Amino acid sequence: MKAAVFYGEKDIRVEDVEDPTPSEGEVLLSPRYCGICGTDLDAWNRGMYALGVVIGHEFSAEVVEVGPDVTEWKKGDRVVANSIIPCKKCGFCRKGKYSLCDDLYMPGITVNGGLAELVVLPSDCLVSIPESVTLQEAALTEPLSVVLHGFNLINFEPGQTALVLGAGTIGLFAAQAALVNGASIVAVSEINAFRRQLAGKLGAHHVIDPMKSNISFVFEEMAGQSPDCVIECTGAASAASETFSLVRKGGTVLVLGISEDPVEADFMTGVLNELTFQFSYCGHSEFPEALNLIAHNMVDARNLITKEITLDAILEGFRELMNPDSNNVKILVKI
Ligand SMILES: [Zn+2]
Ligand SMILES: [Zn+2]
Repeated sequence: MKAAVFYGEKDIRVEDVEDPTPSEGEVLLSPRYCGICGTDLDAWNRGMYALGVVIGHEFSAEVVEVGPDVTEWKKGDRVVANSIIPCKKCGFCRKGKYSLCDDLYMPGITVNGGLAELVVLPSDCLVSIPESVTLQEAALTEPLSVVLHGFNLINFEPGQTALVLGAGTIGLFAAQAALVNGASIVAVSEINAFRRQLAGKLGAHHVIDPMKSNISFVFEEMAGQSPDCVIECTGAASAASETFSLVRKGGTVLVLGISEDPVEADFMTGVLNELTFQFSYCGHSEFPEALNLIAHNMVDARNLITKEITLDAILEGFRELMNPDSNNVKILVKI
C-alpha cells in the first residue's frame, strides 16, 4: 500500500509499504480523508515524530476488515479514529484525564496513522460517523475535539464575551464553540484577510486586523469592556504574551496554540488582575460531541476545508500551508 512515511526533519516520503493486517481487538481501516495539521508542519520543520511512522492523525475512514474477536464494527462502517489511545490504567486515565495519560500512543505521531491506503488500529479507539456528516467533514473531528476539550476545562458561561486570537482551524472552531456555549460577543483577531472574512462568515460578530488596529481598543469600544475570555490559537509567543493585557480583570485565558518559543509572561498583571490561565492539549472523550455538533449544523466544518489534494501531492500541501500568505485553512488529502 501507499503511505506517507516520516523519515525526520524535512523528509516525508510517499512510498510503498507492506499492507497491515488486524490482530485480535484490531480493525483494518481504509482512510478516506486526512487533514494536514499544524503539528505535522512542526514535525516537518523540527523532526519530532517517531521515525518511520506513517503520519496523519486527523482522518475519516471506512472499515475494511475486523480482527478475530471484534464484534462492534463491520466492513463498510464509517469511522474516525481517536487521536490519542490512552492506557486506561494510569492514575490520569482512572480520573478520565486521558490527554494526560502516562502511557498513551498517538496514531500518526507515535504509531502509524491515516495518511495511507490502510491502517490498523484498536477497535475501541474508533467513533462512528453520523449519517449526515460527510467523510470530508469528519476528518475535522480531531481539531474540533481539541477545542471542545479546552472549553470543557474552563468555566465559560452563557452571556460572556470571547476574543479569539488566530483564525486557523483551531481559531475558527474556537469562535464557533464560543457561540455554541452562548457567548454574547465573539471577536476574532487574524492577520490574513481571507481567514478574517471566513471568521465573519462562520458567525464571529467582529473581526480585527491586528496589523492595523489595536485589539484592546477595538474590543472595548465594541463590547464596553475587555473580553471575559481570550482564546489563544495562534501558537505565536508574541500573541500569547499579549493575552495578559487583553483579558479583563478576573478573566480567563484559554491557551490552545502551542508556542515553541519562550513566552514573556506579565505575572504582575496576572496577579493584580487575578487572571486564570488554562492550558489545553488534546480531546479524547469529546470526539462524539464534536461529530454531533457537525451533524446538527451547530459547528461548520465544511467551510474550513479550502483544498483537497492527493496523497502523492502531500509535500505541495505542506509547502502551501507554510506560506504565510496562503489562503488555506484546512487542506485535506483524499486517499
Ligand atoms: Zn492535529
Ligand atoms: Zn493512562
